[in-house]
Amino acid sequence: MAEYEPVQDVIQADTLVVGGGIAGMTTTIETAELQKHVILVEKLPSIGGRVAGMNQYFPKLCPPTCGIEINLKRLRVNPYARVLTLTEVTEILGTPGDYTVTLTIKPRFVNEKCTSCGKCAEVCEIERENDFNYGLDKTKAIYLPHVMAYPNRYVVDPDFVNDAGMKKCVDACEYGAIDLEMKPRTIKAKVGAIVWATGWRPYDASKIDNLGFGKYKNVVTNVIMERMASKTGPSEGKIVRPSDQKEITKIGFVQCAGSRDENHLPYCSAVCCLASMKQATYIRERYPEAEIYLYYIDVRSPGRLEDFYVKMQDDQKLHFHRGKVGSIKENPENQNLILEAENTLTGEITKTEVDMAVLAIGMVPNTFDDKPPLDTKQDEFGFIVNNGGKGVIGTGTTLRPFEVSATVQDATGAALKAIIAGGKR
Ligand SMILES: Cc1cc2nc3c(=O)[nH]c(=O)nc-3n(C[C@H](O)[C@H](O)[C@H](O)COP(=O)(O)OP(=O)(O)OC[C@H]3O[C@@H](n4cnc5c(N)ncnc54)[C@H](O)[C@@H]3O)c2cc1C
Repeated sequence: MAEYEPVQDVIQADTLVVGGGIAGMTTTIETAELQKHVILVEKLPSIGGRVAGMNQYFPKLCPPTCGIEINLKRLRVNPYARVLTLTEVTEILGTPGDYTVTLTIKPRFVNEKCTSCGKCAEVCEIERENDFNYGLDKTKAIYLPHVMAYPNRYVVDPDFVNDAGMKKCVDACEYGAIDLEMKPRTIKAKVGAIVWATGWRPYDASKIDNLGFGKYKNVVTNVIMERMASKTGPSEGKIVRPSDQKEITKIGFVQCAGSRDENHLPYCSAVCCLASMKQATYIRERYPEAEIYLYYIDVRSPGRLEDFYVKMQDDQKLHFHRGKVGSIKENPENQNLILEAENTLTGEITKTEVDMAVLAIGMVPNTFDDKPPLDTKQDEFGFIVNNGGKGVIGTGTTLRPFEVSATVQDATGAALKAIIAGGKR
């Protein structure tokens, strides 16, 4: 069944999953395939989470379409799974086996008659910042969140719903799919267990004063780099520096930008070393002569991911520099960046000029400040600490920084934990 718009004010299921990233999708599918009823709620207009925004993912360097499409197919065909987008949990009452959850559903302003033909966006003259591309480009006020969006349905930015210019879009839709009068709804879900899979967000790089993000245009972050490299991204896969759209020839990756740092994120985000090495392959594929500098404290590539690191060392123009970048300054003449670091193997202080610098920023759990509305054990950084089925069951990157395969394994386990906890009713 999957995409779902409840007509009733009270719905029921064995498990409620909150957050439609790879963790939430996996828990939902695994639960539904065991013929247990499951509701997945996602606050954005489409599911897929951060993985949908990647260009490719390590270690196999597949595009996100591989993993996400297969999961969407499993979801769509399963009658036990229902997906509600633009939905958030506002209250949870009860105990394991018997929860009553209040769900608030925001209006999409586009109904199920939408065929995604795009004629509404073609005529639309209102533009908004494209959050999916981290503000590097714009979409129309009525837009499809991204090419893989599920549901494959347009959405109106609520900031523009009362703008007179929207009438053009309504008139252009021959199916009568745009309804600017839609209102928010509140419904109740009666469920046996709740799995919390609200994932992560990138650490705010502008807080790291010495690295120049927000001050120098050509300092970007690793998540921005994923969108730059994507064929569906703002520069259609060309890796160009923001100041002058010049394709890069020399680039620096700054590991542990804010991570393993008492002033920012004291923990290691576990994926950033591999993510930067993966991004080095994007550069190499497009620019065979480009020089790449990767500054690290020590490379963390757990388990079999070490093979990827070893393979990357064959690239003669990828220079691994042991030592943290102390400062990034801009050369005002050409807007290049000067990366200053100590080489901790030789003791030498190096200054290297590059076209663009990519900050490998870490992962902050969304539960840091958007906590489940139920007494939930969390550590000092906001990660959920599971409590034997009592309260919500955290999964994926709400528990700790994980790469996709570890997330999927954990989320499969969460499906079973929820079935056991919910069965207590
Ligand atoms: C730069 C970078 C590159 C990476 N590259 C790779 C890679 O190549 N390979 C790899 O294996 N891993 C990679 N990762 C790690 C990967 O992104 C994570 O493993 C994955 O995103 C975890 O999925 P998740 O479902 O836990 O969280 P998310 O992907 O964050 O999904 C969480 C979902 O919950 C939704 N949500 C949030 N709050 C609420 C709420 N209150 N109510 C309802 N819904 C909510 C969000 O909108 C989102 O859809 C990378 C990470 C970084 C930082």
